[in-house]
Amino acid sequence: MSSLPFADQSQEITTRLSHMGRDSAAHGGFVNVPVYRGSTILAESLEQWNGAKTTDNPMANYGRFGSPLTRSLESAICTLEGGAGAVVFPSGLSACTHALMGLVSAGDHVLITDSVYGPTRHFADHVLGRMGVAIDYFRPTDVEQLKQKIRNNTRVIYVESPGSITFEVQDISAITAIARKQDAYVVMDNTWATPLFFKPLDHGVDISVQAATKYIIGHSDALLGIATANDRALRHLQAAAHDFGETAGPDDVFLALRGLRTLAIRLQQHYESGVRLAKWLEGHPAVDAVLHPALPSHPGHELWRRDFTGASGLFGAVLKPMTPHQLSVLFKAFRFFGIGLSWGGFESLALLIDPLPKRDDGRAFGNGHLLRIHAGLESSDDLIHDFDAALAAARKVAG
Ligand SMILES: *Cc1c(COP(=O)(O)O)cnc(C)c1O
Repeated sequence: MSSLPFADQSQEITTRLSHMGRDSAAHGGFVNVPVYRGSTILAESLEQWNGAKTTDNPMANYGRFGSPLTRSLESAICTLEGGAGAVVFPSGLSACTHALMGLVSAGDHVLITDSVYGPTRHFADHVLGRMGVAIDYFRPTDVEQLKQKIRNNTRVIYVESPGSITFEVQDISAITAIARKQDAYVVMDNTWATPLFFKPLDHGVDISVQAATKYIIGHSDALLGIATANDRALRHLQAAAHDFGETAGPDDVFLALRGLRTLAIRLQQHYESGVRLAKWLEGHPAVDAVLHPALPSHPGHELWRRDFTGASGLFGAVLKPMTPHQLSVLFKAFRFFGIGLSWGGFESLALLIDPLPKRDDGRAFGNGHLLRIHAGLESSDDLIHDFDAALAAARKVAG
């Protein structure tokens, strides 16, 4: 643990995570806020009914606008992100798309990092495009190109750091400075770092999005999104949720609050295991390159050190060319690495990225194979042994 930068902050945050967003006295002494199920919420008098109407609850009380449980999660995440308010969504993607929908109108221009999460890119191209919003992508680490692409009608700059699949680290402060000059909003997908390892709003971002499905829930047993906005963007974010009727199921919100309690200690373990495994892979003869911002070999390493206080367990590795049969043997040989999509759970994953993601600058990964790896909470010794054995099995069947 001591060999990693920033590894000793987990104590204070662990204490905060144990106590934030709950109120035992208000719930019969129970430690956790209970699951509130319901659509109708009754008022005792006309005065109380009318008094319940607020800007974020324009029709007075109704289950779609959340419950004390929803408010608990939103307030906890909002505190961690340092925002003015947070809104839950039924999935991470839904939080991404509604953050955008709340801000744009026909005729607007949106600039999106080329390294964005694939389904967000699909939404921008296929839905925003259809609504008359012009979409343009910029190279994640090229601030000069971003400046050149800014237009008078640029309304949103959408960033994600490190980038999905390819792990580029973006200079968020430089990007938000450019946006401010143009009066544009900046939305950031902060799922990789969580608000524990990066604070988008402190860097000038207006809306920070979490796929809570990943580390916040942390157990691969539910889907949820949550977006946190500053003062300037909050009413747009709330309007997007309300106007589209977005709401989240109470059991999933409960699981997110439960996951949050252990987020710091889980992330610390993902961080340490991920770095150990990444370093080990970097020295393996079957591996061409490792894409992990916490490794000094990563082009974004200095930016990561400047802005982040840790790394999650998700990174990439480029394997030297193998035959399809070797790849098949490799994946069959894994005991602990599952082939699956939704990282951030307690279990390890390895995914072959095929086809490679669309990247406008035509970056090549040679003729090797890009793997996305999630280091779970298993012992890092076991993970390294597992990878070692699987690579050896694949080597043995070389044609
Ligand atoms: C998984 C993911 C999402 C979407 O979350 P879902 O809950 O699966 O909809 C968004 N952004 C990033 C970076 C993700 O990894």
